Amino acid sequence: MKRKINAQLIGIATLAILLTLVSVSAIFYDLFRAQILDDLKTTAQLFRSMLNQDMDEEGLAGLVPDKLRVTLINARGEVEYDSNVSIAGLENHGEREEVQEAAKTGEGFASRRSSTLGKDAFYYALKLQKDYVLRVSRETSNLLGIFYNAVPVIVFLALILFLLCMIFAHFLTRKLVRPIEGLAKNLDSFGEIETYEELRPFMNTIYKQHEDILKSARIRQDFTANVSHELKTPLTAISGYAQLIENGMAQEKDVLRFSHEIHRNAARLLTLINDIIRLSELDSTEAVHHFEPIDLSPVAKGCVENLQMNAKKHGVSIHFQGESALVLAEKDMLEELLYNLCDNAIRYNNEGGSVLVSVKKEPKRVILSVQDTGIGIPIEHQERVFERFYRVDKSRSKSTGGTGLGLAIVKHIVAQFDARIELWSQVGRGTRIQITFPGV
Ligand code: ADP
Repeated sequence: MKRKINAQLIGIATLAILLTLVSVSAIFYDLFRAQILDDLKTTAQLFRSMLNQDMDEEGLAGLVPDKLRVTLINARGEVEYDSNVSIAGLENHGEREEVQEAAKTGEGFASRRSSTLGKDAFYYALKLQKDYVLRVSRETSNLLGIFYNAVPVIVFLALILFLLCMIFAHFLTRKLVRPIEGLAKNLDSFGEIETYEELRPFMNTIYKQHEDILKSARIRQDFTANVSHELKTPLTAISGYAQLIENGMAQEKDVLRFSHEIHRNAARLLTLINDIIRLSELDSTEAVHHFEPIDLSPVAKGCVENLQMNAKKHGVSIHFQGESALVLAEKDMLEELLYNLCDNAIRYNNEGGSVLVSVKKEPKRVILSVQDTGIGIPIEHQERVFERFYRVDKSRSKSTGGTGLGLAIVKHIVAQFDARIELWSQVGRGTRIQITFPGV
C-alpha cells in the first residue's frame, strides 16, 4: 500500500510537472510572439519614415540589423530589394499573406515557414506610397523549438521535483500509515497513538470491536467458570450420596432419603443443563426464527392456568387480565418468556400474595406486564438480575429450583422480538416486569 501511494503521488507530480511546463512554454511563446511582432512593427514604421525622407535602398541596407530581413515589394508583387537574399530569381511575393493584407488594410502580420529561407519566421508588412509594401521579418524558433531548447531545464527541474516528491511522498505515506501500524502492533496503546482526524472514526471502530471481543471473551470465561461451579454442587451431592449407599454406610431408612436427594440434585442438573442449552441456542446468530402475528392474550392466559397448581403450592394466587392483542413472535418463545416471569413472581412471593398477568393493547404497541406482591428486589440489584447466574438471594433461588438463568433467557427472547423490558420493584412490596412489544 505504501508503495502504491508513493507511486501514485509521484505519478501525479510528474503529470503536474509536464503539464505546467507545456502550458508555461505555450504562454511564453505567445508573449514572445507578441513582443517580436511589436518590435517588427516599430522597426517597419521607422524604416518607412526614413524612406519617406528620401533614403534609398543602399542607405536602408546599412541600417538593417543582422537578425532582421527587410524586403521591399512593388505594386506588382515583385521584390525590388531584399536585405538577406539576392532578388534575382526571387518569386513574386504579391501572394504572401502579410503582403496581401498590407495591400488591403495598410498592415499585415504573419508567422509561418519562409519558403525562401526554409525557416520559421515572423512577418510584418507595411504599405508605402505608390502601393509599395515594406516587409520586415525575423527568423525564430517555433513552439517545439522553444520547447526543445527548454528540455535540459525541464529535465533538471523535473528531476529536482521528482526527488522532492519522493521525499515528500515517503514522509506523507509514513505519516498516513503510522497510526494504523501502531494500532496493529498493540491495540491496547490506542489512547497514546497520535493520529489524524479522518482516521479517528476508523480507529475508534477497530478499538471498540477489540474491546467488544475482549468483553465477550471475558463474559464467556465467566460463564464457563459459573457453569462449572453450578454443575459441581449437585454432582458432588449426587456422587456423595451414591457413595454412601455403595459403601453400605446408609441404613435402610437413609436410603430413601439419599435416593430422594440424588433425584432432586439430578433434576436440578437437568434444569441447569436445559437452561444453558437454551441460552446458547438464543445466543447463536445462526438460528432463524419465523415470527408470525400471534394473539398474546390466550398464550398468557394458558400460562396462568398451567401455573395455578404451582401457585397454590406456594400459597399464592395468580390471575390473568387482558384483551386480544397481536404481536410478531413465535409461540414457544412467548410461552417460555411468560413461564419464566410468572414462575419468578410465584417463587419470590409471600404466602397469601398474588400475581397479576395483564395484556394491554395500545395504538402502536402491546404491553405485557407481570406484577407480584412479593419480596421485591433492592434497587442496587435491579440492573444486574438480567445477568447470567446473578441472584439476589442465592439460597432462596436454589431452594425454589432457580438456576439464575431465567431472566437472562427472558432478556434474550425480548431482544429477538424487538421488544423492550422494564422492571420496577420495591423491597417488601413487590415487583412489576413490563414488556413492550411493537404493534403488528
Ligand atoms: P432464578 O433462577 O434464580 O430465579 P432469574 O434469572 O430468573 O434466576 O432471576 C435472577 C434473580 O432475580 C433471582 O435470583 C431473584 O433474586 C431475582 N428475581 C427475579 N424475579 C423476581 C421477582 N419477581 N421478585 C423478586 N426477585 C426476583
